[in-house]
Amino acid sequence: MSWDFETDPEFQQRLDWVEDFVREEVEPLDYVIGHPMNMADPVRRELIPPLQEKVRAQGLWGFHLGRELGGQGYGQVKNALLNEILGRARCAPVVFGNQAPDSGNAEIIAHYGTAAQKERYLRPLLDNEIASCFAMTEPQGGADPKVFKTSAVADGDEWVISGSKWFASHARYASVLIVMAVTDPDEAPHRMHSMFIVPAETPGLEIIRSVGVGFEGGDAVSHGYLQFNDVRVPRENLLGERGGGFVVAQTRLGGGRIHHAMRTVGLVRKAFDLMCERALSRYTQGEVLGSKQMVQEMIADSWAEMEQFRLLVLRTAWRIDRYNDYRKVRADIAAVKATMPKVLHDVASRALQVHGSLGVSGEMPFSDMILESYHMGMADGPTQVHKVTVARQVLRGYEASPGLFPTGHLPALREAALKRYAEVLERHVQQL
Ligand SMILES: Cc1cc2nc3c(=O)[nH]c(=O)nc-3n(C[C@H](O)[C@H](O)[C@H](O)COP(=O)(O)OP(=O)(O)OC[C@H]3O[C@@H](n4cnc5c(N)ncnc54)[C@H](O)[C@@H]3O)c2cc1C
Repeated sequence: MSWDFETDPEFQQRLDWVEDFVREEVEPLDYVIGHPMNMADPVRRELIPPLQEKVRAQGLWGFHLGRELGGQGYGQVKNALLNEILGRARCAPVVFGNQAPDSGNAEIIAHYGTAAQKERYLRPLLDNEIASCFAMTEPQGGADPKVFKTSAVADGDEWVISGSKWFASHARYASVLIVMAVTDPDEAPHRMHSMFIVPAETPGLEIIRSVGVGFEGGDAVSHGYLQFNDVRVPRENLLGERGGGFVVAQTRLGGGRIHHAMRTVGLVRKAFDLMCERALSRYTQGEVLGSKQMVQEMIADSWAEMEQFRLLVLRTAWRIDRYNDYRKVRADIAAVKATMPKVLHDVASRALQVHGSLGVSGEMPFSDMILESYHMGMADGPTQVHKVTVARQVLRGYEASPGLFPTGHLPALREAALKRYAEVLERHVQQL
């Protein structure tokens, strides 16, 4: 029987190396690099590749990938343990070669791409020579593909794409975009869309503007509002089969969601560590904040929520490894996705509170973390939609009660028990 919460010593050594490396070498980059995917930034060009080399030398580059793609084939549990360290630093995923959306885009090109598509895009993406973008959401709706209007119409040897996309992360830095467009409007909703590979330089593709999250400015502003003005791509730029866009998107998003969650564990831990440090450092009314019961409550609640979330992530990772079938872990992944924003939000908010005015200020990372929690609750689908998935999946394992009253109705249970043990009860009553 295997029921073990320990990490084997050999892998722990790897984790220790990653922990030190991220703290010492990667976290400082977050303060000097505007956007980790801005390949044109000379500071990025000088600082990131040497660190990527160190990661390669450790055999950890693209560790999330299977061996066939040059990764470690670690499986999701080990990925989770590594990713939760990477979650501390914005630049860490790019230093380790598993940044979104490139990792997910590479995954679908590897899975659905033709030999020519792989040749042209897969290796440069996996090697972080180019950036990519995933354009699915549209201004009129992101959570419901039935409202997507961007269309692709076959014309001779080409597809002609028209319409607009919204919040396509990293669009301004991308060399290639993966775009979901309606090709078969008369088909059922899950067969209407197809996926296309669109090189960024294709005529007619316009970035109306780049949109930022909260107070982001400069290079950090990266979510593209895109217009496709009769953008023509060759027929062979269809990714996967015609009408298969929905399936391709699901393949991509399933893996992406759990990887975000793994990294979020690290971000929650960062907020929690800062809160505990402050609770032991700040004095008021003659004692440290950590001696105040209501601060203790914040610490206790945060610790319990963080650990519950981490265990849910690890268990989900374990189930992905165990079943190797995303359909069997849909509820688990959806539950992780729905839990993640709330845990990050609540722990970061308490950490902010414990830091007082300093916590509210832009001199601490908490307001960014709180905003990040909304990002986590929106990107790859809103929390509410994932809760619906959890509930639907869970309810499949239940049946309606056969009678008018529930099976837990106490009078009926009592009556049944009395009937079952009547003889025993009778004997004991007679002895009294
Ligand atoms: C930081 C960030 C990065 C992103 N990156 C990308 C990207 O790279 N590519 C991309 O294509 N998209 C991206 N998105 C878009 C994201 O996928 C959408 O924001 C998301 O799917 C929600 O769509 P929407 O914004 O149109 O909200 P809407 O669909 O308008 O929903 C608004 C709100 O309504 C509620 N709601 C929606 N549907 C339901 C429902 N069925 N039941 C109950 N309540 C519901 C939810 O509270 C939701 O937040 C990104 C978003 C963010 C914030």
